[in-house]
Amino acid sequence: MKFYSLSNPDYKVSFREAVIEGLAPDRSLYFPERIPKIDPSHLDPNSHRSFEDLSYEALYPFVSDDMSPEELKTIIQKTVHFELPLVPVGDYLSLELFHGPTLAFKDIGARFMAECLGLFHKKDQKTKKTVVLVATSGDTGGAVANGFLGVENVEVVILYPDQKISDVQELQMTTFHRNIKAVAVQGTFDDCQRLVKQAFVDTELKSQIDLTSANSINVARWLPQMLYYLKTFHSLREAGEKRDLIVSVPSGNFGNSCAGMLAYKMGIPFKRFVTATNTNNTVVRYLDGQGYNPQPTVPTLSNAMDVSDPSNFVRIQELFEPEELQQFMHACSFSDTQTIEAIKHIYKEYRYTAEPHGAIAYLGLENERLNSEKELGIFLETAHPIKFAAAVEKALEIKIEEPKAITALRDKKRKKGALSNYQELKTLLLNQ
Ligand SMILES: *Cc1c(COP(=O)(O)O)cnc(C)c1O
Repeated sequence: MKFYSLSNPDYKVSFREAVIEGLAPDRSLYFPERIPKIDPSHLDPNSHRSFEDLSYEALYPFVSDDMSPEELKTIIQKTVHFELPLVPVGDYLSLELFHGPTLAFKDIGARFMAECLGLFHKKDQKTKKTVVLVATSGDTGGAVANGFLGVENVEVVILYPDQKISDVQELQMTTFHRNIKAVAVQGTFDDCQRLVKQAFVDTELKSQIDLTSANSINVARWLPQMLYYLKTFHSLREAGEKRDLIVSVPSGNFGNSCAGMLAYKMGIPFKRFVTATNTNNTVVRYLDGQGYNPQPTVPTLSNAMDVSDPSNFVRIQELFEPEELQQFMHACSFSDTQTIEAIKHIYKEYRYTAEPHGAIAYLGLENERLNSEKELGIFLETAHPIKFAAAVEKALEIKIEEPKAITALRDKKRKKGALSNYQELKTLLLNQ
């Protein structure tokens, strides 16, 4: 299968090229040229297909030109090697996506992409190293560092705003070493992104190193996210659940929700998706008929969703006709005050510790007023509460127990670089 540029459907590349390039030359996103259907009989619990088999069937059409079935199966095994539990919270289920190595759902996309790049590098027998350059406001950095750790001939440089990320986030980026370099930038996340963009248009730099990005718009980060939607559907049907399923996704750049909607288009019969955002609510206003008008990004408690111009929304618009989208996708947004109230409510009523992103997804379901006899609401918990400990501990007046995965990092030496301008970044990249 080929992937086309969303602003020029005649420009097509293979999966491999789309992964390496990240964006099309015209800076728009890649999109698969067709949406393969999953055989409905395979989704029937009586077919006794394993999740591994289903995962392989769902993803193989996208990558078949560039890897063998065995290669894809190996990558899937390395990507989804942790639990994806569905935990009852009142009438709903919380789909916990944070049991991976860096305690956030981004582990899945980051690891899948890292394995793909490593494989392509090996197959091409390239002698030049590939350098992955990524800017992060926090969560992406850890997932990318972990996902790419030890991938041969791939060097990773992560730029983050100095002093502006949490201690846990810094631990997850600075304690790996080997092929991972974390660099604190004097400035904001926007400054980090500007430096990354400048590197990508620097032809002199690109003639000397193979530079690629691990941004969330990369198809190799986007596509594997469909697997947990598939898994959720599969395990609920196996457990005899027959109600209609409504899924609520805490959305920032809309990659996660868009992957779920792709799963729907491939034949997983979800009834509806709720995309729940914080006050950065461009999509809510758009679906409400107020036009697409991104406003300056406002900082919130659910800061992994502080995005005012979500890149993946164009992919959602490509998947659906406008009227169909109005039916299938409900968008809503909630303030920090509502988020805190929800965290308190969920804890008080159900003894469940939600963090700000999951709490917003929970509120998204509350908005739907579901008929629990016929409908089952599932909200996605995208991070472990420890990653947003300050907000959660303050709201609940509790101390969250630190997971072992984090405590283990505290004994390791932190190593980070520092830079404040483009020339310094360029020198660093050339010396990888
Ligand atoms: C990145 C992130 C999100 C937003 O996901 P998108 O795919 O960008 O919509 C939500 N929650 C957490 C914890 C995240 O790290």
